[in-house]
Amino acid sequence: MKRRIACCLLGLNFALGCAPVQHQRASPPKPSHEPRQAAGADAKRPARFDRVPEARALDAEPRGARQKSALKDRVPFQGAALEPVVEAQSEPACALPDSTLPHGFYRDDEHTAGQVVLTFDDGPTVNHTPRVLKLLERHGYQATFFLVGKNIRSNTYQLVQRMVEQGHTIGSHSYNHDVEMSFRDYGERTIGYIQGQHEATQMLIELALVATSAEDFREIYERVFGIPEGRYLSGTELRTQWPEWERRHFDLLRERGYPVVSRQDDTARPYPIVYSRPPGGGPYLGAPGRLRKLNDEALRRVGFLNVLWHDASGDTVDGVRNDPVALQGNLRRSVRRGGVALLHGYIRKDALEAFFGQLDAHDDWQVVSLDSYAQAKYGCSPKAVRHALMSARASALPEQG
Ligand SMILES: [Zn+2]
Repeated sequence: MKRRIACCLLGLNFALGCAPVQHQRASPPKPSHEPRQAAGADAKRPARFDRVPEARALDAEPRGARQKSALKDRVPFQGAALEPVVEAQSEPACALPDSTLPHGFYRDDEHTAGQVVLTFDDGPTVNHTPRVLKLLERHGYQATFFLVGKNIRSNTYQLVQRMVEQGHTIGSHSYNHDVEMSFRDYGERTIGYIQGQHEATQMLIELALVATSAEDFREIYERVFGIPEGRYLSGTELRTQWPEWERRHFDLLRERGYPVVSRQDDTARPYPIVYSRPPGGGPYLGAPGRLRKLNDEALRRVGFLNVLWHDASGDTVDGVRNDPVALQGNLRRSVRRGGVALLHGYIRKDALEAFFGQLDAHDDWQVVSLDSYAQAKYGCSPKAVRHALMSARASALPEQG
């Protein structure tokens, strides 16, 4: 049974002219990589990387990777970045609703009972991410990982590659998980800081994807950020230095076979991010409207959609996080209700595996992708949404209170 709820935050879509939600879902999934999986799970797997011809992905493999990589037989970069340009040009422009609402997915969005988007926050980490990836692969499900930029290092970069190889979606969860990043109201400085958090994470995700070894990752990290890996980027650096990092990042990508022209021209960057989630839910859970506007404007400049959640697993809650039965109950409720489910990489793996077994057993339960949500809500591809966001007019900020 479909739940029809207002398409935008707080049900203000009619007052603010939000576009009506389209009810069709994305095309049936046909991932380029066929994960090893339990029989019967195909129908539950979402689509994302099904649009890129294999040959083109190989053509676009970075030259550096071909020469040096132990991963040379892999085809790790099959994201939307490598779609043929002609295809991108023929796609109708994405008209975002002309409103001041934040663009993204919220509790009040329409969603379908029995269809869930699995999202895992706070990775990648060596202690947890490999087991999550293994379980997802074993059961044939795909998820979205909201990554913390500073966690992408020479000992975790291959986990980012595995995410893409297994057909998962990657989003930004900021660089350093600063839950206060949207709560300090310094106007343009706050916007620049939030933008720097996401821009740095976008770059780190791409460095992870083009790295050919741990040593290579350390080299390109230092080249782009100007500091050795292991020293974190400060708040001031995030706010003021990301344009310079980006210039060096694009130089590096060009050397490795990605003819990046600019931030807006992302047809040839390894992985243009579309989705983000503010640490702790950011300013969208009860904070004053002006703080939300600061975050919205930062996301507009970066070209990201904001993704909150309909339901949470409870894996951060005392009394639940160590209770596999309670965790499974929460996850089953998430699917029955439908929508975006919030999990973390450190969720108990026995609970996760048992939940996946229950998903396997329910033919009427389905794991779907954020991309299908974007397509349904905005009537265009996630990539077109990104372009539309970046070219949209900045909305005026309300007066500082
Ligand atoms: Zn988090």
